[in-house]
Amino acid sequence: MSNICFIGAGNMAQSIIGGLLKSGSRKESIWATARSEDKRTNLADNFGVNTTDNNVAAVEACRIIILAVKPQMMFGVCEEIAPYIQGKLVISVAAGISCESLEKWLGKNAAIVRCMPNTPSLIGQGACGLYANANTNTLQKQAAQAILEATGKAVWVDDEALMHTVTAVSGSGPAYFFLFLEAMTQAAVEQGLDQHTAQSLAIQTAKGAALLAEQSDDNLETLRKKVTSPGGTTEQAILSFEHSGLRGTINKAMAACAERSKVMA
Ligand code: NAD
Repeated sequence: MSNICFIGAGNMAQSIIGGLLKSGSRKESIWATARSEDKRTNLADNFGVNTTDNNVAAVEACRIIILAVKPQMMFGVCEEIAPYIQGKLVISVAAGISCESLEKWLGKNAAIVRCMPNTPSLIGQGACGLYANANTNTLQKQAAQAILEATGKAVWVDDEALMHTVTAVSGSGPAYFFLFLEAMTQAAVEQGLDQHTAQSLAIQTAKGAALLAEQSDDNLETLRKKVTSPGGTTEQAILSFEHSGLRGTINKAMAACAERSKVMA
C-alpha cells in the first residue's frame, strides 16, 4: 500500500495506526503529524512511525492523507494542504463535515472518502461507515476500505445522507450499549448482587449475545425467541420492555441523533 499520513495524531489516528501496524503495514510507510515535540516522541516510541510538525511535508511524502483533527480544525488544515493533494486520496474521519465542504476547501477535483468510525476501533473492534465522492477511483476505495478494516468492520454507503444514519447506529451506538449496561448493572445491584459481579455478568452477557448474533445462522428475532420460553422468566422481562415502549424509545433516540448530525453538517 502507498505511504499514508495522518494529519492530527490523537485518539482516532492512533487507533488506526495501531490497527495498520498489527495488520502488517510497515511503520516506515506511515507518517503522523503532531505539533508538540512530546507527542512526536511518544508516537515514534510507541509506533515507530515517521513524525513531523510539518503537515505539508507529510502530505508531500504520501499518496493517502488521513485528516484526523477535530471538525473545527478541518478548514484550516484543508486550506494548508490543498495545493499539495493533486492525484492523492484524502480520507476524513471528522464527524459531520460533508464532502461538499471538503471539496470547497480542498478543490472540486479532490478524491475524498469520508468515514465515521467509533470508539471500539481503539481495540480493533470498530464499526465504520464509508462514503466516497465521485472523484475517488476503485483502487482508492479499496485502499480506504483496507485502512479502516484494520480497526474493525468497514461498510460503504452509496448516499452521503446515510452517514447521518451510520452516526446514529454505530458512531454513537457504543454509548447506547454502555447506558443499557449501566442500567442492567444498577438493577442487579438493587436486587442484591455486588457491583463487580453485576457489571461483569452484564458485560459478558452483552459480549456473548453479540458474538452469538454474529456467528449464528438464526436471525435476531429467532435468537430472542430461543431465550424466551412461553410462560418463562425472560418473557416477563420482554413483555415489560415492550409495554414500556422500548422500541419507540430507541427509534426516537436514533432519529434525534441523526437529526443532530444533520444540523452539525
Ligand atoms: P483528538 O483531539 O484526540 O486528536 C486530534 C489531534 O489533532 C490532537 O492531537 C491535536 O493536537 C491535533 N491537531 C489539531 N490541529 C492540528 C493541526 N493543524 N495540525 C496537526 N495536528 C493538529 O481527537 P480524536 O478523538 O482523535 O478525533 C479526531 C477526529 O476523529 C475528529 O474529527 C472526530 O470527529 C473524529 N472521530 C472521533 C471518534 C472518537 O471516538 N474519538 C469517532 C468518530 C470520529
